Amino acid sequence: MRKKIAAGNWKMNKTFEEGQILLSEVVNMVKDEVTNPNVQVIVCVPAPYLSSFGKMIDTPKVALGAQNCYPKASGAYTGEVSVPMLKSVGVSYIIIGHSERRQYFNESDAFLAEKVDAILAEGLTPIFCCGETLEQRNEGIHFDFVCGQLTNSLFHLSAEDLKKTVIAYEPIWAIGTGVTASNDQAQEMHKVLRDHLASKYGQEVADEISILYGGSVNGANAQELFACPDVDGGLVGGASLKSREFTNIAKSF
Ligand code: 13P
Repeated sequence: MRKKIAAGNWKMNKTFEEGQILLSEVVNMVKDEVTNPNVQVIVCVPAPYLSSFGKMIDTPKVALGAQNCYPKASGAYTGEVSVPMLKSVGVSYIIIGHSERRQYFNESDAFLAEKVDAILAEGLTPIFCCGETLEQRNEGIHFDFVCGQLTNSLFHLSAEDLKKTVIAYEPIWAIGTGVTASNDQAQEMHKVLRDHLASKYGQEVADEISILYGGSVNGANAQELFACPDVDGGLVGGASLKSREFTNIAKSF
């Protein structure tokens, strides 16, 4: 059975102290309330907090995630953070290819392919984000565009490595807008993506990949979205900043 995942992407929010409070609430609630052994909760906190916050997590139900990495292992790359560094402070998941990074930091599919390789080389799990703009959807090119993002950044992988990745479909028009993709829209795209993976790697491999939905997931819509057969969980922004709501999302499987 595919792993079910509730991942919180805090983005650039919370001071250190605020983050400590939020994380300790989440850890305690998840420990008490998330009873499904197939559910993994992930908290992707700001980079400066990773080392300290990792030590606060005392349950395997919650894993520590980073929001970005640089593909080189070490060297003269001022200001960047490498995968071995993240691994050394207890990170096990790394979000890459978020639309905000693609848009504001010009991250290309080829650069993301390098990041995927760097993450897998260290035995960590990439959460690879993809998703179309509203214009692309209105033009009817959204399926081709998002499949292309997968082709360009993931299809160089062996089947064995592909199985170690998590994919997050995040339509850009649904991020932070309060406009969630409908259950049908999410399921439709997730099925297209799984079929696309199957076309290269076979159905058995495709069926093992967790594909998360992201974009205005909240405590009220998570259950319906996660009930879609090809939606294996959520990558949650705004609602992950509220411990009660985020825990409720993690209980929505
Ligand atoms: P929101 O849940 O705030 O729409 O953000 C989604 C997202 O970008 C998660 O990575």
